[in-house]
Amino acid sequence: MRTSKYLITTSKETPSDADTVSHQLMLRAGLIRKLSSGLYTWLPLGHRTLQKLTKIIRESMDETGAMELLMPVVQPSQLWKETDRWTKMGPELLRFKDRNSRDFCLGPTHEEVITDLVRDEINSYRQLPATLYQIQTKFRDEIRPRFGVMRSREFIMKDAYSFHLDQECLDQTYEVMSQTYSSILDRLQLDYRIVDADSGNIGGSASHEFHVLADSGEDEIVFSNASDYAANVELAKGTVPKSPSPQSPNSPEIVETPSIKTITDLCSHLSVERDRCVKTIIVQGCDQDGVRNGSLITLVIRGDQTINETKAEKLEDVASPLTKATEEEIERVFGCVPGYLGPLATDVKIYADPTAVELTNFTCGANINDKHIKNANWNLPSTTDLKPHYDDIVDIRRACEGDLSPDGKGTLSKQRGIEVGHIFQLGKKYSSSMNATALDKNGKGIILSMGCYGVGVTRLIAACIEQKHDEKGIVWPAIIAPFLLVIIQVDGHKSEQVIEISEKLYNSAKELDIDVLLDDRDRKTSPGAKFADSELIGIPHRFVVSPRAIADGALEYKERNTNEKTLKTVNECVQLINDIAKQ
Ligand code: ATP
Ligand code: MG
Repeated sequence: MRTSKYLITTSKETPSDADTVSHQLMLRAGLIRKLSSGLYTWLPLGHRTLQKLTKIIRESMDETGAMELLMPVVQPSQLWKETDRWTKMGPELLRFKDRNSRDFCLGPTHEEVITDLVRDEINSYRQLPATLYQIQTKFRDEIRPRFGVMRSREFIMKDAYSFHLDQECLDQTYEVMSQTYSSILDRLQLDYRIVDADSGNIGGSASHEFHVLADSGEDEIVFSNASDYAANVELAKGTVPKSPSPQSPNSPEIVETPSIKTITDLCSHLSVERDRCVKTIIVQGCDQDGVRNGSLITLVIRGDQTINETKAEKLEDVASPLTKATEEEIERVFGCVPGYLGPLATDVKIYADPTAVELTNFTCGANINDKHIKNANWNLPSTTDLKPHYDDIVDIRRACEGDLSPDGKGTLSKQRGIEVGHIFQLGKKYSSSMNATALDKNGKGIILSMGCYGVGVTRLIAACIEQKHDEKGIVWPAIIAPFLLVIIQVDGHKSEQVIEISEKLYNSAKELDIDVLLDDRDRKTSPGAKFADSELIGIPHRFVVSPRAIADGALEYKERNTNEKTLKTVNECVQLINDIAKQ
C-alpha cells in the first residue's frame, strides 16, 4: 500500500474528550472516529488491526472444533419472554417495534437465539457436544459509554455457546475454552489474569473473567501473592488478617458525640480505632420477586471495611441495584440521622458481616442523635436497652489489599483490570426454560447443559494499546499491527535513486506477502512528520531511504519495539525483509 493513496489521518493534538491513553491514541492514529455516543467507525487503518485480531480469534476457535455461524442482530421479543429476560433486563436492552408493532431488540448477547436454534437443529447425542460461535456486532445501551471502544454501545464480540448431555462434558469444553482464551492473550503478549467472577444476570454457576492488567481498567481484581487465587473484587472473599484482639466484655456506656458526621470524626473524638467501630448502613429491601416493597434492611460491617455492593445485592431481601435509604426514611424509622445509626434491635432486619460480628467492646451509633455506644457487645445481657443485635451473618465486605487469601495461601494484592473475556457455565438455565433437549443413547430426552464464552474483540484492541504504547504512540504486537513494515521516502522529489531503492524494497516485501506501507507522500509532508506517523501508528519495522543514506551506503532501520536504530546496506535490508516474512 502507498501512503499517498491510503487514508492516513493522524493528529498531533490530544483530543480533549478522550480520557484514556488507548482512546487518545486510537483517535490520534486515525484508527477510529466517533459517530455518536458509544458508536464508532473503524477507519481503514483500524479496520486492518480489527481484521487481523478477528482472524487470530477465528483460527483459535476453529482449532477447538467450534463451528462458526452468524445470527441476526435483531431479535424478536418472544424468545426473551421465554427466559423472562424481556422484563428482567434493564434499559441496556434496546427495545423497539417493527412496522407491524411487534416487539424486537438489538442483540446484546445471543443465548436465546442460539438456544432456539439448537432446540430445532440438535436432537440426538450423535450431534453432541457442539460448540457454535460467531464474531458479530452487539448493541448494549450502556448507561455511561466511555473510553472509546472500551465501553461502547455498539461493539464486536466473539460469542460461543456449547451444548452437552452432561456436566462432565461441559467441564471439558469449559477448560478447552479457557485454554484457548489464554493462548490468544499469550499470542498478543499481554499481561493478564484469569479471575473468579460474578456470573451477573446471565446466571449459572462457574464463571471466569480474563483481565488485561491496566491502571485505566474499570474492574478491580485481587490476587494472592502465593497461589493461583484471583477474583474480581465484586466476588472476592478474603479473610481479614488483623482482627483486633478479643477483650472480655466491659459495660456499655452511652457517650455524647455531638456534630459527628463521619467515622473519622468519631474515632478522633472518642480516641478509638476504626477497626473497633461498626458501620451501619440502611438500604432498600424487596419482595421475593426482587420488587422494592418500601421495606428497609440494615447492613453492618467493621468500621475500617467497605460494603461490597455486588455481594449485598445478592441477598434475597435486598433491592438491586443497591440503594441507600434516604435521610427522611432513616429519621422516620430510626428516629436519628444516619451518622448516629447502630445495629440495635428494631423491626428492621440486620445483616452483619463476620468482621463486625467478631468484635468485642466496639463503638456504634445509639440510634439517638448526638449519642454513640462505647463498649458495645453483641447479644449480651446489658444494663441498658441499647443492645446490639443481628439476624444473620453474611459476607458483604469488599476484599482489600493485605487480606489473607481465602485458600489460606498468601495475602491479597489489588490491581485494576480490563475485562476482555468472560466464560460461564450456564448449566440448564436457558435450555430448561426454552426446552432444549436431545435424546441420549438410551433414547431418553435430556435437557442440555450449556456454556457460553465471550471475547470483546474491539475492547481487546483498546486493552492492548493500554499496555503497549510509549510517549510516541502505539507499540503493536506484530501480529495485529495494521502494517508490519513501513518504507519512508525522504526527498524522493530530489533523487531518482531514493525512488528506485524504496520501490525495490517495497516490491520485495510485497512479493513475500508482508503488509508493507510505502510512505511516498510528496514534499508537503516533511520527513519528521513521516517518522512521527510511523511511530504513532506503531508499525513494527521501518526503513528510511534518503539521498544521504544512499550516498553513505547505509539505510536506517528502526524497530518500533526497542526504538533501536541500525544502519544497513540495501542487500541487508532485503535480507531483513526475508527474515520479517518468516516471523
Ligand atoms: P462489563 O462488566 O465490562 O460490562 P459484561 O460482563 O457485561 O462486561 P459480557 O456480557 O460477559 O460482558 O460480554 C462479553 C465480553 O464483551 C466482555 O468480556 C467484554 O470484553 C465485552 N464487552 C461487554 N460490554 C462491552 C461494551 N459495552 N463495550 C465493549 N466491549 C464490551
Ligand atoms: Mg456489562
